[in-house]
Amino acid sequence: MAFIKRFFPSLSYLDPASEQAFRHYIVESTRHTMQRLVWVCVALLLVFNFSDMLLGDNWFSLNNLTRLAIVVILLSYLPFTRHLNADSYLQGWLLVCAIVILLLTVTSYAAAQYFGQLGEGGTMIVAIALTAIPIFNVQQKILLWLLLYASLAFLKYCTQTDTGWTLFYLAITILLCFSWQRQLDILLRSQFKAVRLETEKAETDQLTGLLNRRSFEQRLQEKLKALTPDQQLSLGLLDIDFFKRYNDHYGHLDGDLVLVHISRLLSQDPALLVVRFGGEEFILVEQHPRGAVPTLLNLPQQLFEQAHPHITSPFGVVTASIGVVTLSYPATHASSGELMHLADTLLYRAKEQGRNQAQHQYLG
Ligand code: GH3
Ligand code: MG
Ligand code: MG
Repeated sequence: MAFIKRFFPSLSYLDPASEQAFRHYIVESTRHTMQRLVWVCVALLLVFNFSDMLLGDNWFSLNNLTRLAIVVILLSYLPFTRHLNADSYLQGWLLVCAIVILLLTVTSYAAAQYFGQLGEGGTMIVAIALTAIPIFNVQQKILLWLLLYASLAFLKYCTQTDTGWTLFYLAITILLCFSWQRQLDILLRSQFKAVRLETEKAETDQLTGLLNRRSFEQRLQEKLKALTPDQQLSLGLLDIDFFKRYNDHYGHLDGDLVLVHISRLLSQDPALLVVRFGGEEFILVEQHPRGAVPTLLNLPQQLFEQAHPHITSPFGVVTASIGVVTLSYPATHASSGELMHLADTLLYRAKEQGRNQAQHQYLG
């Protein structure tokens, strides 16, 4: 099984969740290319029609009608694709390709019955055109190639058609295309993996593994946009109390461990967006039902209860202060700068009023 999987990078190169993410990425990043590919195919088919007509064929010959039918199928599906999600989009194109191959089989069968010969090279062009489709992986292409091969074999053995050298050369073409596609599948996935890793690195704080300040702005905007009328959004700025004293007494390495410990505590609630703002400051964003008390207000108490020793602090344990600002729907009018400024003012007030506490205010 493992040996077979090696031939199909989409089964073996990434874990299933990453493969799913890759499939969506490749569909979204090549929608434009797919459109251009369709227009190139349409142009080529029309050029074939015109050149056949110049050579004396008429508009309604079987070949011309088949090509026009393919043009119609491609152009009718194109406008639909805009509204489809990645999976349906991909399945839709697979179906369209299969329909085109079947249509070619039917008309070739008819042509074979009348003329006893196929237009050489046509099948090869279709096999190569399938290779050029960016969204399909090697298995999906094998399905289409096999359909194409079966179609040609059917014409050879079920009619009196002279398929010439086509069946043999089609097998070679498919083998070469398979090898290219397999390499491409690996390359695209390794590029996807590298880009994801780089993005993750750029957005993550090395010490704590939390998101860093760089990625905060975009995530906050997403949360603000996603807010519904029955919800509120709270943003908190949390700062560890007397942390300089902690470092001075216990050393920076132990200080780092405190940062990691607090990051774990903050990350316990998966609904919370937690960002290391810098130094010993964290930003937290929470969506909660309208009128509910933000859980962010409990954080100083929770940290206090952890009882992490800090003998140079008047509390005897590591504590933190937080400024929390809450805003209601619609939240799109609020800028992140405004929210941060108010949270900072509230944090300053919490420090002034003795630390180890939360200060809360509604925006507007
Ligand atoms: P306050 O209660 O007013 O917040 O006092 P504080 O001592 O916490 O605040 P101050 O801004 O004076 O000091 C912050 C300290 O945080 C200074 C710096 O050494 C420490 N710090 C910042 N980043 C790191 C880090 O990555 N690791 C460690 N160990 N310490 C850090
Ligand atoms: Mg600070
Ligand atoms: Mg501090």
